[in-house]
Amino acid sequence: MDFLPTFMVIRDRPCLVVGGGEVAARKAAVLLQAGGRVTVVSPTLGPTLTELQTTGQINHRPGAFSPDDLNGPILVIAATNDKRVNHQVSQLCQARRLPVNVVDQPALCSFIMPAIIDRSPVLIAVSTGGAAPVLARLIRGRLESLIPATYGRLATLAARFREKVQQHIPASRRRAFWEQVLQGPIGEMVLSGREAAAGAALDSLLVREAEQPVAQGGEVYLVGGGPGDPDLLTFRALRLMQQADVVVYDRLVSSAVLELTRRDAKRIYVGKARDNHALPQEEINQLLARLANQGKRVLRLKGGDPFIFGRGGEEIQTLTQEGIPFQVVPGITAASGCAAYAGIPLTHRDYAQSCVFVTGHLKDGSLSLNWESLVQPQQTVVFYMGLHGIEIICAKLIEHGLPATTPAALVEQGTTPQQRVHIATVASLPGQIKNANVRPPSLIIVGEVVKLHRELAWFESRNADR
Ligand code: SAH
Repeated sequence: MDFLPTFMVIRDRPCLVVGGGEVAARKAAVLLQAGGRVTVVSPTLGPTLTELQTTGQINHRPGAFSPDDLNGPILVIAATNDKRVNHQVSQLCQARRLPVNVVDQPALCSFIMPAIIDRSPVLIAVSTGGAAPVLARLIRGRLESLIPATYGRLATLAARFREKVQQHIPASRRRAFWEQVLQGPIGEMVLSGREAAAGAALDSLLVREAEQPVAQGGEVYLVGGGPGDPDLLTFRALRLMQQADVVVYDRLVSSAVLELTRRDAKRIYVGKARDNHALPQEEINQLLARLANQGKRVLRLKGGDPFIFGRGGEEIQTLTQEGIPFQVVPGITAASGCAAYAGIPLTHRDYAQSCVFVTGHLKDGSLSLNWESLVQPQQTVVFYMGLHGIEIICAKLIEHGLPATTPAALVEQGTTPQQRVHIATVASLPGQIKNANVRPPSLIIVGEVVKLHRELAWFESRNADR
């Protein structure tokens, strides 16, 4: 380790920035964020610093740098474009043991500035020791996306309860207690914006814990895994995927998505191939409740969005009946994912003012749908689970008055590297895909918007017919 990472208190203390340009302005801004009193020495000020001066946030000492400027500040940053000045500032500061940073010149620094992820009061600082600031910023970018913006609130809750916890929980149990709180349902309440409920739950947990340690109950995360491409997961989905103890998933969840669940989590496959449920729905509902009652954090991972043809509602109804805590995380539904990746906007000013999602799943070989409503002009209709019944679907649409020439598409394994898009009309689609060896899952999109595919398709795929 070439540097000692520390966090310095500069609130209400004088800090000096030498230089008036945009780089100096960025440094001044960080100092201000940490509450420093900033003086800028420079003959002139650039636009950002001028603005900060006009609004009274910084002091400006006009003129060239003079050694006298070092009487007073507790920290100095040199950000001029004059190498000699930067050098002089560095030497004078080091002679006085005054912490000094010269921008982009590690050799002249007695401290360096990290890239920061600010989840105040949580602060994460990343440094490459000055070797590759760009790399530090890339790392910061990755951490930014991994660490929810709400983590700061978790720290705020901990601060609020710190004394109470000290009073009620003996030191030997305190660490385990906090881990349980921050990683369990109470922490989840905070992260999903239910802070009042989290406070109340923590209060009652404290009372119970003080009497006798209680095992914390489990919970269920009903999470939408999106249509296949793992990049389409939400941040929250990813976080819960990485902390669950058990993963209950079905066939639609892509292997690329499944791979992002915690390595040592137990995985339970509950099937759901067409008409071939590995586990009946009622048993899935019971399974989730049973696992949660064993104190497990259960990830119920579903393809697409859990509330769109996902039976997510049924699964959490069982949980409510048993009083098991849960949360629902939306996912990108197949219609959105396939439409985006096939270059078929679901609505368009010229072609469609509404869009309908409908199930094409056959029951006893037939489909009872409100066909009149599905053949309206200026409307896009998306059929989920429609491959098997595609002939009936297309025939019924035409029978109820949809022009046979209406464009129609079948999007196969949308958003994955195996995506294929078959473009035809309602009349010709069933015939066209008959020998195309279509692999599930696939989605049918009917409407004038399908025409736009030719112009808007962007996603490289195996062999799309453009
Ligand atoms: N809850 C899911 C839908 C479940 S129903 C969602 O919101 O997407 C299952 C149907 O979704 C499949 O029969 C198929 O029509 C569609 N589907 C899901 N993923 C798909 C994909 N990657 N490409 C095409 N269709 C998909």
